[in-house]
Amino acid sequence: MSDLDPDALLGFDRDHVWHPYSSALVPSEPYLVESADGVRLRVRDRGGDVREVLDAMSSWWCAVHGYRVPELDAAVTDQLGRMAHVMFGGLTHEPAVALSRRLLDLAPAGMERVFLADSGSVSVEVAMKAALQYHLAAGRRRTRFLTIRGGYHGDTFSPMSVTDPVGGMHSLFRGVLPEHVFAPRPPAGVDRPADDPELRAWAEETTALFAAHADDVAAVVVEPVLQGAGGMYAYSPHVLDVLHDLARRHGALVVHDEIATGFHRTGPRWAGDRAETPPDILCVGKALTGGYLTLAAMLCSREVAEGVSRGEAGALMHGPTFMGNPLACAVAVANLDLLASRDTAGEVARVERALVDGLAPATSLGSVADVRTLGAVGVVQLHEPVHTAEVTAAALERGVWVRPFRDVVYTMPPYVTSDTDLATLTAGLVGAVAAVHG
Ligand SMILES: *Cc1c(COP(=O)(O)O)cnc(C)c1O
Repeated sequence: MSDLDPDALLGFDRDHVWHPYSSALVPSEPYLVESADGVRLRVRDRGGDVREVLDAMSSWWCAVHGYRVPELDAAVTDQLGRMAHVMFGGLTHEPAVALSRRLLDLAPAGMERVFLADSGSVSVEVAMKAALQYHLAAGRRRTRFLTIRGGYHGDTFSPMSVTDPVGGMHSLFRGVLPEHVFAPRPPAGVDRPADDPELRAWAEETTALFAAHADDVAAVVVEPVLQGAGGMYAYSPHVLDVLHDLARRHGALVVHDEIATGFHRTGPRWAGDRAETPPDILCVGKALTGGYLTLAAMLCSREVAEGVSRGEAGALMHGPTFMGNPLACAVAVANLDLLASRDTAGEVARVERALVDGLAPATSLGSVADVRTLGAVGVVQLHEPVHTAEVTAAALERGVWVRPFRDVVYTMPPYVTSDTDLATLTAGLVGAVAAVHG
């Protein structure tokens, strides 16, 4: 068996390799991708032919500039010539300092300290740990977090504990997962005004819930405005204003998880910029390295950083082996420079217009319940769960790589996707939904 033989690769993969949320009994039958360039992946189809297809997913929100980006390739290569990695305990280096400086320049008001983590989930772990330590240091034993239903914050245990209880399969992990406080999911719609009756009813219920747990809640943890893996669900920024206000009133911190929404994906640089006040803690990840390497960060205010450090432990108790990995930091710096060198907000607005136009025909399909767009994110929601394998195959035939989940077929393409490619991409998605679901 040659490792280069595609059928042998796929056979070994099927028998021995776990994929995300996959079963060993019903294999997920992944497609073999050979390479990627610009906004296209070279994917081997079921017939064995290699096709160039448009990437509708940006590799799960990450590849905002597409693939084999000369500036990012160069950043990795240059850094390789110095060092790939070195421990961060007792040592520091230019890529980590340069990245932290840029992140603080871009961050919402008040952020003052950066913790570099190796994945989004770890950054949420660190944010939750910092919130606990902050209160402990002040003599308050607050051990619970408040969030809204429908969220997603990662797959390790603490982030999973604030992820939607149903979507996150909390029943499966009962007894192991800490039980936090879940407010109802806010009413859908970004444009809902503050005095909207449904929003006010939501606020009343949440106010009562918060009051009932006021002495226990260390922090509010939310994905601002757009819940991603929880269903691509958008809500009004006034919801954030309510949560921020309750948190201040009850002495809890506010954590914004912008791992998916950061760096202009929904329009503004941070989705939370639409709220009246900034968070105390911010988590970023995904697009941070332009999709090159795994890296995330937790940023916090001076008050949080100093509060944590005044405690009995005298330190924030976390330190991953690959913390501040120089290769990842170097490519993240190049990514942020590239985003800054372009009219990224304008680019996202252009992508948004193309998604609105291109996905509009889906509204007339019988299988479609809702079509919505927020920034460079387009969602086609069906009345029933998506036949994922069939829709993926039908989209591939139309030249598009997409990975639907639950009842949504969605796209968050690289920002650099041209209008012509966006027209092909949206037509491919709508055509695939029509062909499979009608
Ligand atoms: C993806 C995601 C995470 C987890 O990030 P990983 O890098 O997969 O650990 C956390 N929060 C949100 C909002 C995400 O979209």
